[in-house]
Amino acid sequence: MSPEYDSSAQAKERLSQITSEAARLLKKTKTSYGEVEELIHQVVKSAKSARKQSAKLQNLKAEAMYLSLRHDISFKEPELPNSGLESVTALWSVLESTLQPVRPSVDWLEKIRKMEERRHQSPALTPEERVELELRLKENVCPLCVSYTLDGTCTNQSFETCPITTFLDQAVEMIEDMGHRPWMEDYFERMYRDICPGCKGRVDKDYCPPREQGDCSLFTYLPSVVKTIETFLKERAEKKAIAEESEG
Ligand code: SF4
Ligand code: SF4
Repeated sequence: MSPEYDSSAQAKERLSQITSEAARLLKKTKTSYGEVEELIHQVVKSAKSARKQSAKLQNLKAEAMYLSLRHDISFKEPELPNSGLESVTALWSVLESTLQPVRPSVDWLEKIRKMEERRHQSPALTPEERVELELRLKENVCPLCVSYTLDGTCTNQSFETCPITTFLDQAVEMIEDMGHRPWMEDYFERMYRDICPGCKGRVDKDYCPPREQGDCSLFTYLPSVVKTIETFLKERAEKKAIAEESEG
């Protein structure tokens, strides 16, 4: 079992080793796969040539048989080659299974699964981060919203709490998980998949009255919500990197 690399400085060092080791292995693997392909081309070429010669041999044998029958002359039949099809078929299936995509070991897959589970269980935002992000959303999104009044209050009657606030953790997890995408359509699809099923606003898989009536702020202003959260997450990651650097 490999070490855990508990400190982030050790993990960073190991990640940089992994990057150079992976680059070296990638080059070597590409060369080996290239050699396999080259050899297979060679094998196919030799098989074609063997088949051509075998066909000529068969024709010679047929011609000899014909002459022997026509003139009643005995002759010794030429020996025909064994194509080795059986052993080639066996070798081919070994080759096919060897060239199938390779997965990491079960140990690593299990470790990744546990780590993902742990990350999903831990809250996406600390209480302080939540306060800061909510403030930014209030500044960026509320002034665009039809429920916003110029004295800064919210008149939305459809929900007890604004859906952006209710589903803030899920929205942060969703955006973290997706990484940056250039198409808003991707975010809407993920929202329908990851967030909407847990919302009481929806009456059916494809029908949500608040969404249709423009009362769901999360849906209506999703582009601004995504942009605000992305900026927040980017800044948070930068701050974390600076803190780690000064620690290490
Ligand atoms: S519904 Fe949400 S986004 Fe709209 S004004 Fe109220 S708090 Fe702001
Ligand atoms: S679109 Fe509908 S189901 Fe989805 S969060 Fe908004 S109100 Fe809820």
